[in-house]
Amino acid sequence: MIYLFCGILSGAVLGAICVPLFRKEDTLESAIIEETQWDLLQRKKEVVLGNMQDLDFEYKCGKLSEADYQKVRGEMSAEAALVFQEIESIEAEADLDALIRRELSARKSKTTAATTSCPACGTSNPVTNKFCAECGAKLKH
Ligand SMILES: [Zn+2]
Repeated sequence: MIYLFCGILSGAVLGAICVPLFRKEDTLESAIIEETQWDLLQRKKEVVLGNMQDLDFEYKCGKLSEADYQKVRGEMSAEAALVFQEIESIEAEADLDALIRRELSARKSKTTAATTSCPACGTSNPVTNKFCAECGAKLKH
């Protein structure tokens, strides 16, 4: 089980790294779809829970027989459980996305930090440069 999880995680991370960083629109689009699905499920949850409350109320008022109540209540519970599961899986996915985004931005800031400022003019140069790209002064490492 743990191997499966690690496999999925490393696969997802590798995939996220290989995807060009410029494809921000795709990420945004999928985020919007995810949010809509989540909102939809939240509404579904409210409806199911509301129906269960109504059912309880009707049963307490004596409008339903014990057998009918148990049968409908069981169906509603199963539906609610399904909705809860779907919400959980979407939230787990969203968490993974957030984790990948955090990792990527950490990598990005590490790359940005790998610069050295020119002793002559103060321009930031990549550490791989031997001379300043702006004024040509020798860079100290
Ligand atoms: Zn310089």
